[in-house]
Amino acid sequence: MGLMSKEHVAKKKFGQNFLKDRSVLYKIVEAMPKSDVIIAEIGPGLGDLTKFLVDVKSVVAFEVDTDLCQYLNREFKKEIKTSRLTLKCGDVLDAWQSELLDEPYVLVANLPYYIATNIILKALADPNCGYILVMIQREVAEKFSATPGDKNFGALSVITQTVGEASIVVHVPPEAFDPAPKVDSAVLLIEKRRSRDDEEFELMLRAAFTQPRKTLSKNLSSRYEKEQVRTALEQLGLVPTIRPHQVATTDYHLLFKILEKNI
Ligand code: SAM
Repeated sequence: MGLMSKEHVAKKKFGQNFLKDRSVLYKIVEAMPKSDVIIAEIGPGLGDLTKFLVDVKSVVAFEVDTDLCQYLNREFKKEIKTSRLTLKCGDVLDAWQSELLDEPYVLVANLPYYIATNIILKALADPNCGYILVMIQREVAEKFSATPGDKNFGALSVITQTVGEASIVVHVPPEAFDPAPKVDSAVLLIEKRRSRDDEEFELMLRAAFTQPRKTLSKNLSSRYEKEQVRTALEQLGLVPTIRPHQVATTDYHLLFKILEKNI
């Protein structure tokens, strides 16, 4: 890296923790899909990950920090000239309508943690995004990838399993970054296979997990008639005392059909 990278003072408000551990960078690149679609990177920062990505495929990168944008424009002059890299300066959330790019893409990023959950939910809903490979806070990665019965199993896990499969590629300690974040991190992989379900389903999930330690039937009664909930659980062979994290994704879908569509 040039002089400027050493001079750049990380900005906390933008969640800037630069990934310096090369072995983790390699693991991210190894986990990328072999398909030939374009890569969207959110928050290229000082370009440590971007360097690897442009070697593999064309990249569109979104960076909010204007100082970093200037730096990246210089550092990646050649790649920008040949359109190997397209750099978009500004807040990615402003650029993201229902689709981030107007062609199929994979999302690969070391995300700013303060908006990580929001970004993943947007990517899950984005029909052009087929694959999500992101570094995030470990605790959040565990929520997205939890399976029924895990204590972390919640609405985020069900939404994820509805569209595909999630797994953790590697756990990453704070020392892998400069500056080191206060929390542990993990690289999360989500392979999308289906499109995200409708809004009503997610509202039902939100109700189901409002109080994770209470029974599912109590939580659902905030949205549906008590009696309707009781018979729906009975129909699926679920005991009335069952807790929300003990119910499988497929059962949530059946429950939704029974409660909303009376099927
Ligand atoms: N990719 C670099 C790396 O791996 O070292 C930097 C990752 S750092 C955790 C997050 C990056 O996201 C920073 O460069 C930050 O400026 C950028 N960022 C933060 N909020 C953003 C937003 N709303 N839109 C686009 N980029 C953002």
